[in-house]
Amino acid sequence: MLSENVRDIVIIPHVNPDGDAVGSSLGLWRVLKNAGYAPTVISPTDYPAFLKWVSGTGDVKVYEHEPDVSQQILEKADLVFLLDFNAPDRAGKLGPLIEKVTSPIVLIDHHPAPADVTELMFSHTEASSTAELVYRFVESLDLCEYLDKDAAEALFTGLSTDTGSFSYNASSPDMYEVVSRLLEKGVDKDRIHDLIYNNFSADRMRLLGYSLDQKMKVFPEYHAAYISLSMEELERYNFVPGDTEGFVNYPLSIKGVIFTALFTEKEDLVKISFRSKGGFPTNEFSNLHFNGGGHMNASGGESKLSLAETIQKFEELLPEFSAKLKDEHRKLGN
Ligand code: 5GP
Ligand code: MN
Repeated sequence: MLSENVRDIVIIPHVNPDGDAVGSSLGLWRVLKNAGYAPTVISPTDYPAFLKWVSGTGDVKVYEHEPDVSQQILEKADLVFLLDFNAPDRAGKLGPLIEKVTSPIVLIDHHPAPADVTELMFSHTEASSTAELVYRFVESLDLCEYLDKDAAEALFTGLSTDTGSFSYNASSPDMYEVVSRLLEKGVDKDRIHDLIYNNFSADRMRLLGYSLDQKMKVFPEYHAAYISLSMEELERYNFVPGDTEGFVNYPLSIKGVIFTALFTEKEDLVKISFRSKGGFPTNEFSNLHFNGGGHMNASGGESKLSLAETIQKFEELLPEFSAKLKDEHRKLGN
């Protein structure tokens, strides 16, 4: 149980929330609501269209759409949860407001190198997902009776999306124990899988085809590949947030490729996703050169250069990492 004087609670996922950020936030939101609290999820930016089916998304406040209402709710909160990120700058424009919060803050996350945000930090890099940690948090507070099917589906979504449907970061028996508890709450795994992975528009499918056919560049000598998409190309395929989710993983299926990047041009910056197999630390690469971070095998960053200049910078960096990439490729035997 939470302390007695807590009623109004705010839950904040990271900017451009992914399946884990949305799933862990709405899972915790549902449990707290069922337990009689008054929680609100405030997302810095809109959540992906392919996750709109997750129960509770309609109640999410999106800060960039409703800054004043969101700020009022945040200022009134007795308790604030930060989920799936570990530094205020990962909350976009909500970051400066988080720094001003005077109520207690609880951080639940699985990214490396947390900033000194709060004393109440549940930071476990070995966890598959924040959703897994939220389940353990709920369990430790003895709130499992309030974890209903909707909450379980939301948490399952976080676990599934952060592990590529249990294909990576998914070797821990503890994680399957959590999955098992969620299934006991009534999650229909096959249905949720279908909702997550087979829920895109035809335009998105065509954008994927175009990206792989026309926009993917492979560097066999560096075991690397990237895809780049301009705003014009995204608009041509009626892009909605979430449409490029997963694109960065595709080149990893090419024999010999262990490091991939996806560059997407936005209004004022280029957003970059990085993925790797084995021991190539994409988070260090991203942190050093693209102002980003994340996990070793999945990270992101951004660039204020033009799309062409950003790509050029990436290409020019590859020779510097050649030895490390070759070594990691050799270890994988792929
Ligand atoms: P994605 O490529 O799916 O957007 O993000 C992959 C991982 O990297 C996620 O865990 C995400 O939180 C992290 N990440 C993405 N973009 C950034 C960024 O700009 N900065 C930092 N520190 N982490 C990021
Ligand atoms: Mn996560």
